[in-house]
Amino acid sequence: MSGYAETVGSLREQFIDPFRPKPPVERVFDNGSISVISHYLLGKLTVVSYILETNDNNIVLIDSGVDSEGVGIKAIIGDKTIKAVANTHSDKDHINGHAILTPGAAVYAHQNELDVISGNRRSDGLLQAAYNFFTKSTNTIDGLNLIPTYDGMEDRVDDIDLRFFNAEGHTTGSQVILAKKAQDEKYHLYTGDAAILYRDGVFRAAPWFLDHKHKVAQTNMSEVIRKILRSGHRIADGLAVHTGHSASGTFEQLANSYGVSLDKELH
Ligand SMILES: [Zn+2]
Repeated sequence: MSGYAETVGSLREQFIDPFRPKPPVERVFDNGSISVISHYLLGKLTVVSYILETNDNNIVLIDSGVDSEGVGIKAIIGDKTIKAVANTHSDKDHINGHAILTPGAAVYAHQNELDVISGNRRSDGLLQAAYNFFTKSTNTIDGLNLIPTYDGMEDRVDDIDLRFFNAEGHTTGSQVILAKKAQDEKYHLYTGDAAILYRDGVFRAAPWFLDHKHKVAQTNMSEVIRKILRSGHRIADGLAVHTGHSASGTFEQLANSYGVSLDKELH
């Protein structure tokens, strides 16, 4: 198990130097109940999924990654069941791993994104077409329990608490997800491509804007930050922020990036 700072350093290095040859999959770190796995898209781009283990030995994924065989995920979870995926959005690099889900698995996503995941709508994103060149179609998986989310929605999978926030911008149904184990104090925040930590230490939306609107993305992320602050200091305090393509950062860094003053909002 590597230290958190070490992990952040190594992930950041990968993001800074995206053209180095990469192994296809690498387990990055364990942080209590959370494992992080990064895949390398065409050996160039780090794509990160998060594996949360529940008290009942089931798995909740935050995104399923680019690998439709789920090699890295399976290596970590063994024969445990993936009970749910909470999807930040439906670009192919975040949903290809859904191919390894079994009937009954829950998929939490905004309705617009569920339509893509279930094959009823093609993504508006260019990436969708690009990925179809080299990945098999994973859009039609029978028996999934597709759960449309809405801003502020809360749910629990075994002992994992999930809370969803609208972060439309990168895609029409992008969302940011708070998750924690019920008995834990600390949440973790998963931003997908709505906010990625850049090498200058600033969070911004992913550079590959697809059906996004940049201003909408900015406004919505600021709103998410304010909503989290309003919901209590307990949540914002020490909150780690994990993204779809970069090293993790802190909630304070995130707030600073979007011009939200923690002091002003909290007092
Ligand atoms: Zn992405």
